[in-house]
Amino acid sequence: MKQIILTGDRPTGRLHVGHYVGSLKERVRLQNSGKYDEIYIMIADAQALTDNAEHPEKVRGNIMQVALDYLACGIDPAKSTIFIQSMVPELTELTFYYMNLVTVSRVQRNPTVKAEIQQRNFEASIPVGFFCYPISQAADITAFRATAVPVGEDQLPMLEQCKEIVHKFNAVYGDTLTEPEIVLPDNKACLRLPGIDGKAKMSKSLGNCIYLSDTEEDVKAKIMSMYTDPTHIRREDPGHTENNPVFIYLAAFCRDEHFAEFLKDYANLDEMKAHYERGGLGDVKVKRFLNDVLQSELRPIRARRAEWEKRPEDVVELLRAGSARAGQTAAQTLNDVRRAMRIDYFENGNLLR
Ligand code: ATP
Ligand code: MG
Repeated sequence: MKQIILTGDRPTGRLHVGHYVGSLKERVRLQNSGKYDEIYIMIADAQALTDNAEHPEKVRGNIMQVALDYLACGIDPAKSTIFIQSMVPELTELTFYYMNLVTVSRVQRNPTVKAEIQQRNFEASIPVGFFCYPISQAADITAFRATAVPVGEDQLPMLEQCKEIVHKFNAVYGDTLTEPEIVLPDNKACLRLPGIDGKAKMSKSLGNCIYLSDTEEDVKAKIMSMYTDPTHIRREDPGHTENNPVFIYLAAFCRDEHFAEFLKDYANLDEMKAHYERGGLGDVKVKRFLNDVLQSELRPIRARRAEWEKRPEDVVELLRAGSARAGQTAAQTLNDVRRAMRIDYFENGNLLR
């Protein structure tokens, strides 16, 4: 069986370091592993409109930003097809057919949708489109016959729901769709990076992000202002490293080599954590180290972004070509779906049979 990746991001803002450790870094690794036959990376503008219907300019403006972030991180357009969701209308048609295979109460039980409805104060007025986005996500994944979907942990319920749709479709209409597997990062700290404010998730919609395109000065200022352990008041006080975003970021980003390079007091993160927990290690020192680590990771990304920013026409062209290629693949799957559902009326006189 062909090994195929489908993944993507909503163009609701520039991408941040949570996206990077949760999914982008993994995508680049998988892309360069040579194990995948096809890789599709989708800028999910239609999904972004489900909770931004009144702000189409925000979605439009961020398409280029997300594309630049991809290229900056090392997504290689020669190996991966980057495309814009709404430029592939087959996905919408698939969504419409899948909607019949899912109950309202099933979507209501989706914990990520639940949390997002609350976060957006949608309780009394949920847009139908937003409510259905897990179904449209199943259409995106299955349209490309994805076998692997590298995403953050908040997408687990979406993948579960997608698998259910695949099973239901195949049971009702015959074996047609491919079942995907989620690919999560191995490092637990990367599953769901918290915000700089200590909130459970760094998220564009919450404004608590360190963006991949932030300047060196911005990154530093954000790190120095980060929420830490509120009980660690004086340097001598014993501190908590659990649920402390500074230490979670370190667990996500730092390697032993970083200590050798920037902070010789410790051989590794465990030693540093032990010192913080017993007291005597101040937040400023930890933050300065985190800044060194993060800057060294972000520097090459920033440099690659600057190169691509000089060639916007090339970015537009690769999005155009990518969308056309993605459309061809999705059209094939849609043909298979229509045939399975027996709504391919005019092919080979099907309506007469
Ligand atoms: P929005 O607030 O508009 O939903 P977002 O920041 O949640 O934006 P998405 O575009 O919804 O970003 O998510 C893109 C991908 O990044 C998904 O695979 C998601 O799981 C992953 N991701 C998002 N935020 C984080 C995070 N804080 N830690 C790890 N992975 C994340
Ligand atoms: Mg999200």
